[in-house]
Amino acid sequence: MTQPATMLSKTPTADAALRARAARVVPGGMWGHLNAARLPEGYPQFFASAEGCRIRDVDGREYIDFMCSWGPVLLGHRHPQVEAAAQAQAARGDCFNGPGEVMVDLAEDFVAMVPHADWAMFQKNGGDATTACVTIARAGTGRRKVLVARGAYHGALPWCSPVVAGITSEDRAHLVHFDYNDVASLQAAAAEAGNDLAAVLVTAFRHDMGRDLELPTAEFAKAARAICDAAGAALIIDEVRAGLRLDLRGSWEALGVRPDLAAWSKAIANGYALAAVTGNDRFREAATKVFVTGSFWCGTVAMAAARATLRIARETDVPGHIHAMGLRLREGLAALANRHGIAVRQSGPPQMPLMLFEADPEVRKGRAFCSAALRHGAFFHPQHNMFLSAAHGPADIDEALQAAEQGFRAVRELDARAAR
Ligand code: PMP
Repeated sequence: MTQPATMLSKTPTADAALRARAARVVPGGMWGHLNAARLPEGYPQFFASAEGCRIRDVDGREYIDFMCSWGPVLLGHRHPQVEAAAQAQAARGDCFNGPGEVMVDLAEDFVAMVPHADWAMFQKNGGDATTACVTIARAGTGRRKVLVARGAYHGALPWCSPVVAGITSEDRAHLVHFDYNDVASLQAAAAEAGNDLAAVLVTAFRHDMGRDLELPTAEFAKAARAICDAAGAALIIDEVRAGLRLDLRGSWEALGVRPDLAAWSKAIANGYALAAVTGNDRFREAATKVFVTGSFWCGTVAMAAARATLRIARETDVPGHIHAMGLRLREGLAALANRHGIAVRQSGPPQMPLMLFEADPEVRKGRAFCSAALRHGAFFHPQHNMFLSAAHGPADIDEALQAAEQGFRAVRELDARAAR
């Protein structure tokens, strides 16, 4: 039976037992960003089930979820229509000797929905899609240099992993760095690449971990487009994290800037494993020439889930709803912080919010806030942008704000202890 987080002891025993078993058979107990050692105290490592905007850990504690599986869950966990579409496809089989009809349907859906797209192709993870974009850009231009923003995340592959263990400098020899939203640094990077410029690769907005989120300025977006046009290079937008949450047509559409290639994943199949590259006709031939594939890239179940997700997102104005819910959360957090006299900075689009505490270089306040809020049933993140879903309603936000109230109390206690 599900129990409110507050009713259970602080030590999640089933979670602790699984961590101990995992420590023996999984290196470090868990890999990458999902290692719970990176999370605030009390955060579970293991989860048992989820529905709508609620997740349950293996100890039966339930939380209002503001991470949405780190982005994939756009409509809410186990959305009935997505599940029905996935199950209907699964009843006929998932993995065949080649794609099913659903692949063509889904490519047509993308081409109809995304103005820059003349074609689409599918993969599994976001890193597959960003890598394919870079490969296609290089094949199409016959050049090597790719401009990437300092600190931006594009996946965990050797050419873009943020951690250098096991990676050679040759793996990333042809990357040239610039600073996001800094036109002069983008121009300087383009000048350095010279006539070897294959692509500018840029995330939909600046969402580097641990710093304020930043939307792209129109000036920056237009400069990126102009540089690519002047050089005959590809403008690639990495939509893996932001895709479908800001604008179903593509995150830069409202700025009047269209990419040549875009990488999508996370939200496109509401939690099923799928990624996509969309591109324009300039890069169609290059996309035909490169060799990109994977054993599971044709899986029909995820594609059926994606078709349902895109349809529902179109029919119900998901970006508009999650914008409204994100604003409600942001305004509620601001009011609570104000009442407690605690200085916070909230940034990013409301659909993917971040709250950082002032004067908190080691994220002590952020962690104390999150740990206390977690005990009262809200799953926030202290440093990574969070995610809203269509399943969050006003009552869920208000309930989460009550948990946040406990978080702010914990920060006040921390401040009071520090002052003593
Ligand atoms: N690009 C961006 C902007 C991302 O946020 C991520 C994942 N967090 C990726 C690429 C890589 O996606 P994946 O982990 O599915 O390979």
